Amino acid sequence: MSQLLKRLHRTGRRAREIIGSRIEGGAPCGTCGFEGKPLHRGVLWPGLVAEWELTPPWHRWMDEREGSRCAWCGSSLRSGQLAAAIVSAANRLCGSSATRLAALFRDPRARALAIAEINSAGNLHRYLARCAGLRFSEFGSTAPAVPSQDLMQLSYADASFDLVITSDTLEHVPDIDRALRETCRVLKPGGMHVFSVPVVWDRPTRQRATLNDGVLVHLLPPSHHGAPQEGKTDFLVFNEVGGDFVARCSAAGFEVELLRDAVNPALVTFIAQRPSSAIRDSVGSVGSV
Ligand SMILES: [Zn+2]
Repeated sequence: MSQLLKRLHRTGRRAREIIGSRIEGGAPCGTCGFEGKPLHRGVLWPGLVAEWELTPPWHRWMDEREGSRCAWCGSSLRSGQLAAAIVSAANRLCGSSATRLAALFRDPRARALAIAEINSAGNLHRYLARCAGLRFSEFGSTAPAVPSQDLMQLSYADASFDLVITSDTLEHVPDIDRALRETCRVLKPGGMHVFSVPVVWDRPTRQRATLNDGVLVHLLPPSHHGAPQEGKTDFLVFNEVGGDFVARCSAAGFEVELLRDAVNPALVTFIAQRPSSAIRDSVGSVGSV
């Protein structure tokens, strides 16, 4: 009986949160479309804020980015914006007209897209899994059905995908420029790498660690992402990304578009497109023969 009471209590609390959020109102969630004020709980811990040297405004913005969640589906603001960017990119690539990720793959043209989800994009994975052309991998996976991909050396052939998705992953890769060149390589011309990465825009990228001939070298004290309260601090930060990052994406071969939030500068999603000029050039050369 106590289990039943606990379940009823949780259900009642969730219903009150959803109704309260809906009454206060807000922008539509990119994942599920729910329009409500996000629920917030602080997620950054003092040690990380100190290592990252976040000023009070950047602490608040980064905390909202990760800690504010859709009352209906639970997407963080970051994941909701990533979902909106995926939908925007897919609509452009295949002609679909979805307004939220939860509805995107009802369209057979979207289901036919070739998508690489390099690491699980949080609660977006359950929707991405509806795409017949999804190739899913997970960081450090040991499950035979779910391979692990090294972003610096992807196992995929050139020009394999319409979309590549990474979700707060690039900061954990030893050579971030090589990783960007790799995602560009596996994209078809015109394909897009849609990703989130935490960026502090008013300072340059700072490298905290590197690999020298396969040996880990710390340039600054080790800093990890994860959830220390759950004992998960296994994601070493190699780079704290800064305002030079768009130029680094361009140097890797991408044309970059940013999806920004009107209020929070930490809430940004990258839509990095592999130029399609190669297609136009080849068509032109065929036509001129
Ligand atoms: Zn939602």
